[in-house]
Amino acid sequence: DALLQVKNLSVSVEEKEILKGVDLTVNRGETHVLMGPNGAGKSTLGNALMGNPNYTVTGGEIIFNGKSLIDVPVNERAKDGLFMSFQNPLEVPGISLGNFIRNALEQRTGERVRLWDFRKKIALAMDVLNMDHSYAERDLNVGFSGGEKKKAEILQLLMLKPTLAILDETDSGLDVDAVRTVSQGVQEYQKNLDGALIIITHSTRILESLHVDHTHVLVDGKIVENGDASLVEEINENGFERFLKA
Ligand code: ADP
Ligand code: MG
Ligand code: MG
Repeated sequence: DALLQVKNLSVSVEEKEILKGVDLTVNRGETHVLMGPNGAGKSTLGNALMGNPNYTVTGGEIIFNGKSLIDVPVNERAKDGLFMSFQNPLEVPGISLGNFIRNALEQRTGERVRLWDFRKKIALAMDVLNMDHSYAERDLNVGFSGGEKKKAEILQLLMLKPTLAILDETDSGLDVDAVRTVSQGVQEYQKNLDGALIIITHSTRILESLHVDHTHVLVDGKIVENGDASLVEEINENGFERFLKA
């Protein structure tokens, strides 16, 4: 059975219809790439999957692990193993990055996470991301550079091991070295992938060293093309123009 089935999904934001009947099937072990021009609705799809209350599902279905997500609140979706890394991660004064991740892990598993084990694990994950261990003690994202915020998102990915991870433009605004580091982190997550990954991007740099199974092009709230990894290369060369004319 598919891990995720999105069927004829329509989503509105502030009374405006953004997604207009999206179909998407994601199986365990797969990496999907969702591309499309700005404003196409890529982040809207991610937010709808996560259950962000600002995004209203007006039609269709989201089936995750065999059950409908439509009426499941956002915190329960995280417990069920959904994760989305945000385009603009929030700064949260008063809670450290490490404690934030530890709390999220405890909510996810319903069990206490022993500090000693946690410290060892987070240190290993930070090494993958070339992050100084002191970042775990710093307030979540406060004063972090754009690249450090994105690394903090990937650190959550590595620590929480979600069943379905959605990365929303984790590569945007990063320099070449930071893209490489983020990509290393994603590769590390892919190594032990028993869930699935959806990478939203409108560039292709992060994909250069990642395995991709399926590519989807979203234009004006509809998926207009499905393909394999070669579709990423084609878009890299020709852009979205041919999809816009359709
Ligand atoms: P993409 O991620 O593909 O660039 P988005 O999903 O962010 O596109 O946006 C699609 C459309 O929905 C845009 O017209 C955007 O202005 C609108 N939109 C998305 N989120 C919101 C929001 N929270 N409030 C108002 N409009 C929104
Ligand atoms: Mg965008
Ligand atoms: Mg977006």
